[in-house]
Amino acid sequence: MSRREDEAEADHERRLGTAESRLALAEQLLACDAARPCAEAVVEWLAHHAGAGACACLVREEHGEQLRCLASRGLSEAQCAALALVPEGDGHPLVEVLALAAPRYFPGPRPPLPVLGTGGWFAVPLGRPGVPPVGLLLLSTSGAALPKEVAWVAARVGPVLARLVPAESREVAGRGLLRRIIDAVADPVLLTDQAGRPRIANTRAEALLVAGPDASEGRRRAVELNQHVFARALASASSADGPARSTGFRRREVPLVDPAEGMDLLFELLSTQVVEPDGQVAVVSVLRNVTDLGRATQALGESYRRLRATEREARSERHRLDRVLDSVADPIILSDPSGGTVMMNDPAEKLFALPLDGSQAARSRVHSNDATFSSFLANLMDGGGSLRWRGQLSLVDPATGATLPMEAVASKVLGDNGELTGIVTLFHDRTEALEKARLLERVKDVSSQLEARVQVATAELAEQNEKLRRQAIQLEQASAAKSQFLANMSHEFRTPLNAILGYTNMLLQGVSGELTPSQKRNLTRIDSNGRHLLEVINEILDITRIEAGRMPLHLSDFAIPELLQEVMAELDPIIARSKLAVSTELGARLPAVHSDRQKVKQVVLNLLSNALKFTHEGSVTVRAEYVPATSTLTIAVTDTGIGIDPAHQEKIFEDFQQVDSSPTRAYGGTGLGLSICRRLATMLGGRVTLQSAPGQGSTFTLHFPRRARRA
Ligand code: ADP
Repeated sequence: MSRREDEAEADHERRLGTAESRLALAEQLLACDAARPCAEAVVEWLAHHAGAGACACLVREEHGEQLRCLASRGLSEAQCAALALVPEGDGHPLVEVLALAAPRYFPGPRPPLPVLGTGGWFAVPLGRPGVPPVGLLLLSTSGAALPKEVAWVAARVGPVLARLVPAESREVAGRGLLRRIIDAVADPVLLTDQAGRPRIANTRAEALLVAGPDASEGRRRAVELNQHVFARALASASSADGPARSTGFRRREVPLVDPAEGMDLLFELLSTQVVEPDGQVAVVSVLRNVTDLGRATQALGESYRRLRATEREARSERHRLDRVLDSVADPIILSDPSGGTVMMNDPAEKLFALPLDGSQAARSRVHSNDATFSSFLANLMDGGGSLRWRGQLSLVDPATGATLPMEAVASKVLGDNGELTGIVTLFHDRTEALEKARLLERVKDVSSQLEARVQVATAELAEQNEKLRRQAIQLEQASAAKSQFLANMSHEFRTPLNAILGYTNMLLQGVSGELTPSQKRNLTRIDSNGRHLLEVINEILDITRIEAGRMPLHLSDFAIPELLQEVMAELDPIIARSKLAVSTELGARLPAVHSDRQKVKQVVLNLLSNALKFTHEGSVTVRAEYVPATSTLTIAVTDTGIGIDPAHQEKIFEDFQQVDSSPTRAYGGTGLGLSICRRLATMLGGRVTLQSAPGQGSTFTLHFPRRARRA
């Protein structure tokens, strides 16, 4: 075969090959339903069939000049992405190519497209003829002529991309629009899986439920809490819904936290399930902020509750008022501003309410009371600005017709704006008060009369007192004079009397010669009467000395038993004569005594001689005892004699007093013995007591302290 034949055959085969590959690409392009596989097929074909070093297929976004790299060959991903950057201004080479809609050769590197290497390169616009291009084909070439394959490919792929790109761009743009729309919604909107994990969330939802990697710790925690609460609300919503209601919206309240402010928020959650194209079930949720609504509802509820409470209080207040009014005994009437009666308590009804079954008289009395009250109220109205009016009314008891003097006090009840809303009138029955006032007047009269009498009586009493005082002074002076006289007289009596007794004794002893029996008898009488007289004089002397304070205490230590022995010895002749059983009894542990021995002895002597004198038979006992509790000694003289009537028991201790003081009395004596005993006992710091009954004997007891104190 010749060289020309070989070349011709090779050319034929090449053309055949090219035709086949063009056919394959054309078929591939026709089958494409998306821009990207279409672009990929083109760059692949160009690499093989047009000898392009590096090539890329870019398309325009539907709006603006931004390019998107669909497929590339001989370029890295980053270089591809750099090509797709938004070209700035009209000066950009690619913008110019797109604007002119014609292929252009760039012989060398030209910013800002350094990515295509240092050699020359072509930018071929892609699209339908007569319509603005939808994309660009970029490829590096060795020469400045546009290869035929490139022109062919551009012509094929242009219309296909023009068909596919706008739809895709629209879809992408549509998605962006949808996103912008849901972001514009003021409520949080989100699509989650069934566990509540967000897949798509608008800005508001993201603010509540999404925390970026650089979010603060506080925000992360708040978001975690919100996610937890939200997931739980979703779970309970779907379990409550059940399969039957899975398509409907479900409402519930979800308390969340504002992660930015930390405030509590209340949302109403509307959720519904949707089935995604991949068959998975997702949940669309819309949250509506009802925080303010919740607060308002709460405030409304609170106001309503308060209103009810106030209402209840007012009702119970009214009941209480009714009870108070009814429990007041005085009549009370509440009138309206025109004087009409609004309410009255029970006592007021008795005066002002027409009795149902009352007589004509009772009715006319009620009318009369009404008229009286009305004119009283009219006075109050005319009274100008005064809030209170007091007046005296004369009412009538409808039941009995009795006049009732009343005091009425009316008070105006004013409203918030000072307007008259009612009048309260309280009546007070003055019958009792008037009666009391009358009685008081009477009491005053009587008391002033009494006072006058008392004054007279007091004056008289004062006069009497003065008289008595003077008399007492006179008596005191007389008594002192008497005592002095008696002391003097006694002394004066004793001296001659002792002389008489001395001489009588001498005569009886026969100093002047033997005496006849008759002389002896008479002298014995003289002696006995003289001694009696001496005894009387001595006793009078004792009393006057005591009264004149001339009988001082002579204190010494002595024993009672010895003292009693002496007394017994002195009275032995009388005891012997009396035929009485006389004995002494000494109590146990009788202590020594510090007192006036002579005075104790004188008292005991006196008591014992009285006992012997007034006892005819039986016994006389002298008993001494010590009472440790009071440190007191007692010497009791008990006899079985005539006894003393209680009527005389006090009297016999007075001077010259005897039970029997008649001239025919059976017993001798002066009546001074016991009064001396009492005086002496007093001087010792003690006393004399008596227990006796007529015919049953007597017990005279001397009580005196173990240790006498000098007065
Ligand atoms: P006098 O014995 O000298 O009359 P008194 O003062 O000693 O005076 O006694 C006064 C009166 O008390 C006696 O007159 C007698 O009536 C009565 N009286 C005193 N002691 C007894 C007694 N033991 N029993 C009965 N009466 C007595």
